[in-house]
Amino acid sequence: MSIDLQAATAVIPGFVEKAPLERYVDPDRPSLVGESRAELAIALGELGVPQSQRKMRVQQLWHWLYVRGVTSFDAMTSVSKELRAVLEQRFTLARPKVVAEQISVDGTRKWLLRLPGENPNERPHEVECVYIPETGRGTLCVSSQVGCTLTCTFCHTGTQRLVRNLTAGEIVGQIMVARDRLGDWPGQCPPEGAIVPTDGGRFVTNIVMMGMGEPLYNFEAVRDALLVVADNEGIAISKRKITVSTSGVVPNIERTGEEIGVMLAVSLHAVRNDLRDELVPLNRKYPIEALLEACRNYPGLTNAKRITFEYVMLKGVNDSLSDAKALVRLLAGIPAKINLIPFNPWPGAIHECSDWETIEKFSEVVFGAGYSAPVRTPRGRDILAACGQLKSATEKLSARERMALRAMAMTE
Ligand code: SAH
Ligand code: SF4
Repeated sequence: MSIDLQAATAVIPGFVEKAPLERYVDPDRPSLVGESRAELAIALGELGVPQSQRKMRVQQLWHWLYVRGVTSFDAMTSVSKELRAVLEQRFTLARPKVVAEQISVDGTRKWLLRLPGENPNERPHEVECVYIPETGRGTLCVSSQVGCTLTCTFCHTGTQRLVRNLTAGEIVGQIMVARDRLGDWPGQCPPEGAIVPTDGGRFVTNIVMMGMGEPLYNFEAVRDALLVVADNEGIAISKRKITVSTSGVVPNIERTGEEIGVMLAVSLHAVRNDLRDELVPLNRKYPIEALLEACRNYPGLTNAKRITFEYVMLKGVNDSLSDAKALVRLLAGIPAKINLIPFNPWPGAIHECSDWETIEKFSEVVFGAGYSAPVRTPRGRDILAACGQLKSATEKLSARERMALRAMAMTE
């Protein structure tokens, strides 16, 4: 990461950008999950596979890892027994460990995943990964960091300190875990009660980097992971079905288009700098004008490949009709979609969700300006899986708080 976190904190008053507390340390036998072709070739080279065979061996490994999703080297039947044994000695096919699985009444599934800490004697970390089935598609919400660098006032994750960046393997691993748990690899059966959302028979059709963390502050790992996920001879989720959501890390927006080429979502949430400085403190570093300039220049931006602007509806804060009008003026000329997100409350939050009537009026203005303004209905509320509520079990809610949340969801 090339950003000088210390300097940023020093020069911008009131701006808090946390530096990671830990780094990832490879275990004795690292996992091959998430490795690129080039990395697999290096690994095979180290095992003594001659150069002339490496390309073919990489193709085989790639197929078993990312097309078939096998969890043991033994299952790689096209690979020689000797090589399988050597691979087994040096590597694993481990994914992040699932420590809890919750299934919501609406079919949303949330997995709590355990990731190793820097020091083996200390408590491991946890992140969440959420699967949201809808008619015709299944979206997986993936985390990029344990905690977050930033402190957006409406976000539960933002109250957690940044512990560490996820590795590319841990990011790809979340998709592999979801496919494991959903029986989403060729020849597997889905779990009882799960309805395949698509005719093609795949559960995970879309990826959104909207779980814990700010993906553009873990750029390299996110890039490497998404290039593996999008490879059309592997997991093969097309770049048009992968969205990276950012709170506005301007210098890495262009890189996202250039080096990853996926869809971009921007967490805008306010149309004036004074308000956005409060809600999304990163705005003090990269104000609205700079952010929108980066959006206008987003590589590959066309009317068929629009940027999604996310706007969380906060009662009495950013939800007036004049805000709505200012929003459409602000985005004029940018190929955009607007996503109005009802605020998901969490215990201790200082905001409330706008009334439905207000959200509807707001969306009418947006709709009137030619944008389709779908209001993203919160999903999986009974398991706290909705946006901004991803916070690992290290700070688990009490049973009473959970009940209060469920009650809130039901009275809507
Ligand atoms: N850090 C990135 C991605 C993770 S947050 C970002 O900020 O874009 C994913 C989305 O959920 C963002 O648009 C974020 O603003 C929104 N969000 C966070 N907390 C929320 C809450 N309590 N209710 C509704 N949306 C929330
Ligand atoms: Fe971090 Fe995004 Fe939450 Fe802001 S909204 S604190 S950037 S995860």
